[in-house]
Order: sequence, then structure tokens, then C-alpha cells
Amino acid sequence: DPTPMTPARRGGPWGGDDDAPEQFSPAEASLLAKVIRKGLVESKTDIEVQRKDPKSPLYSVKTFEALNLNPNLLKGVYEMGFNAPSKIQETALPTLLADPPQNLIAQSQSGTGKTAAFVLAMLSRVDASKKYPQVLCLSPTYELAIQTGEVAAHMAKFCPEIEMKFAVRGEEVPRGVKLTEHIIIGTPGKVLDWGVKFKVFDLKKITVFVLDEADVMIATQGHQDQCIRIHKNLSPACQMMFFSATYDQEVMDFAEHIVKNPITIRLRREEESLDNISQYYVRCANAQEKYNAVTNIYGTVGVGQAIIFCHVSNYDNNNNSKKVVNTVVVFFFRRGKTAAWLSEKMSKDGHAVAVLSGDLTVEQRINVLDRFRQGQEKVLITTNVLSRGIDVEQVTIVVNFDLPVDVHGKADCETYLHRIGRTGRFGKRGIAINLVDSEQSVAILKTIERHFNKKIHFLNADDSDEIE
Ligand code: ADP
Repeated sequence: DPTPMTPARRGGPWGGDDDAPEQFSPAEASLLAKVIRKGLVESKTDIEVQRKDPKSPLYSVKTFEALNLNPNLLKGVYEMGFNAPSKIQETALPTLLADPPQNLIAQSQSGTGKTAAFVLAMLSRVDASKKYPQVLCLSPTYELAIQTGEVAAHMAKFCPEIEMKFAVRGEEVPRGVKLTEHIIIGTPGKVLDWGVKFKVFDLKKITVFVLDEADVMIATQGHQDQCIRIHKNLSPACQMMFFSATYDQEVMDFAEHIVKNPITIRLRREEESLDNISQYYVRCANAQEKYNAVTNIYGTVGVGQAIIFCHVSNYDNNNNSKKVVNTVVVFFFRRGKTAAWLSEKMSKDGHAVAVLSGDLTVEQRINVLDRFRQGQEKVLITTNVLSRGIDVEQVTIVVNFDLPVDVHGKADCETYLHRIGRTGRFGKRGIAINLVDSEQSVAILKTIERHFNKKIHFLNADDSDEIE
């Protein structure tokens, strides 16, 4: 099964020293977003709903009880630490659980509760007395399928009668054997093999079809066609559930192809702003002074004062009351080389530093992020890999070791906003510190200041009182 986790650009341990930021493939970015952020992204924007028949009722719920779930499933939901449905779940869940079944297209940014919603619907729709696959969930990659399976296993903790099977690389079914599991979670290639070529299960008996991460799916060569071929073999009565983090024409065309008469719900992303962000700059003569500024900032926040970032969810520690909190400072660099230099220097000085470079394998990256989330390292050093595709909402201090610039060396205001901006209406506060070491970077800073019309204050980095 092709699961192209695009390899990072090569060239030195930091992916070379040219200025182009390293980018994750959509599948990698999505996976890393799941790994780094285990809490719900909340939203104050309203759900937008579209449906063909405006007279058909649309329900929403404020509690999980209102869904009339199987009590053991409800217990599983609470076990995961969920108290109330998230914004998208309020509308998605009643639609997904409706009788007669209703097709749904749902779009909202990563972390808003889509996976939990369809996993709950999948589990809820299973008739465990029937020993054949009834629910089919397609994920774009091996790793994403496993993630979904883990959520399902967790939620089904009190429903041991429900069985699941992964249809991913490495899984084989002996010839002539028919699957007896209720739920199949897999990648398109393997599912096509099992369902169409080898017929180890009957696609016509699938009553719930989930297409997850549709935007990532269409970004992966060949996956869209495979999904369509699988879809063609399903019964017309099968309930379709379609999820995407983005909403562009290509995704919507794909959605309309797969999902007939849907209710479409959308939760627009809140705009980022600098409203609650205090912005500073530090004048440095050279890289060594930048280093001093960094260790100064780090030393100040490192002494355990209340700068709080990543919440590691209950989901990880199986302990509902415990919240692990760590201080997270993210430094941004223009060049991989600088990042390597700084991490080496900081490690030598005895700081626990996590480094995320483009040269690591996906497993290594996940490992780095996991350790970071557990608080084993307090500083994460990265080039541009975290600034796009992955939200750093929980990070309160962002240090621009180098200011963001575009390919022409001009101020990149959009990236600046994305690095330090927050969806401000939640009142999350943040601090941005820009290290400025040349006339050129002063000019870039001024451009950014003018662009957002928000003052960037001078900070004396030798004075740690000021940083506090
Ligand atoms: P998405 O699929 O949109 O990326 P997820 O379903 O993975 O979102 O949810 C993001 C995070 O929020 C997960 O850690 C999940 O366990 C958690 N979560 C989901 N729904 C709820 C809820 N109703 N209450 C609290 N946490 C939730």
C-alpha cells in the first residue's frame, strides 16, 4: 500500500542550509498535529449548515446523554475525559446518529473533535451480534488509521463485544477466510484489495462509510480514485460520513461525488490576531548575543514560574484529575544550521532541549514531540516545520531567533502572524520576542510593526526582570 510520507529534503543533518523552509507533507502535518496537541481546540464561531431540504429538521445537543447512547459507550466517552460535545459535535453527532441515517459532510480545523464524533457514530451503529464488517473507515495513511483505531479502542473500552480490524500494510488475511470483525479501519489500497479483489468482506453489507481527512486523501496520489472505486461497490443505503480539515473546491467536488444529499456543516476557523500578544524586540550585535538572549529568556521562564503551555490530556495518563503542564518556548530560525548550532550550545550548557529537524523519520519526530509533551524537554527547537500546518495555540512564548522573511528576503507578515498570533477572543495571552541583529532585520521589524499597526517594544535582554 503506498503511504507516501514524503521524505524530508536531504542535505546535512538539518536538511541543508538554504533558506527555503522545510515543509511537511499534508499527511505528516496532520499526524503531527494529532501527536502534539491532545486537547480540544475550542471555537466561538458558529456552525454553518447547508442542506438540500431546508425543511428537514436539524438537531443539536448540548450533552452526550441527549444522544441516547448505549450506556457502555457513554461510559467510554466519559472515560476519555469528555464532559460535553465540542462545537462541531453538537451538530454532527445527532446527524450521524439519526434514524433514518443521514449523510454528513463536516469541515473544521484539526483538533475540533471530528474523529471523536465519527468514532462514536461508528461504534454506536455496530450490531455486535452480526459477525461481519458493517462499518468501514478510510484513512489516508497507515499512521492515521492506527491513530483512529486507538481512539476507537479507547472509546469502546466498555464494549468488548465490538471487534475491529486494521486494513493496512502488514495485515494479511489468509485465502478463503472471511472477516468477522465489525469495524474495518484502513487505507484505500488495502481496503480495495480486501473488499474488491479478494472479497474477504462484503462491501454491500457496509452500513456506515467514513472518509476521514479527505483533504489529505486527495493530496495523496491515487487515493482519490481508490476511494471512488470502493465507494462504487457500497450499497446505496450506506450512510456516508465525510470529514475534512479544509474546505476548498477540490475537496468539495470530491465530497459531492461520494456523499449524496448531505447535510454539510462547517466550522470556520477563527482569525488569528495579535490582540493579546505582547511583542518585544531585543537588539543583538551577533549570533553570540542572540544566544545570550535566548539563554536569558530560557533561564527566566525555566525557573518554574507560571508560563503554561501544553496540556497533556487525561487521555494519555489515564488519570482524569491529573494535568501535566509544561513550559514551552518555541524558537524560530531562518536556517537549519543556526538551529543545530543553538541546540548544541544549549545542550552543552546543560539545558534539556528537543530538536525537530526535517531529517528525522516520522517515528523520530513523533518520539521527539512525545517527549516534549511529557515535559522531558522544555524547549523545542525547530526550523519552520511547526509554523505551518501545526497549531501552536498552547505556546505562550515565541522567540523569533530570526524574523520570518520570504524568498526575496522581505518581511513575511503572514508567517509572523501565524507563528505568534492567537484566536484572541479566548483571551489567551502570549509573548513574542524578536531577536534583531542587523540594520536589515531592524527594517524587517519595522515593516511588520507597520503592517499590523501594533507596537513592538524594546526589551533589554540582560535584564531578566523585564522579561518576567
Ligand atoms: P479532529 O479529528 O477534528 O482533529 P479530535 O476528535 O482528534 O479532532 O479531537 C481533538 C482532541 O480533543 C482529542 O485529543 C480528543 O480526545 C479531544 N476531544 C474530542 N472531543 C472532545 C470533547 N467533547 N471534550 C473534550 N475533549 C475532546
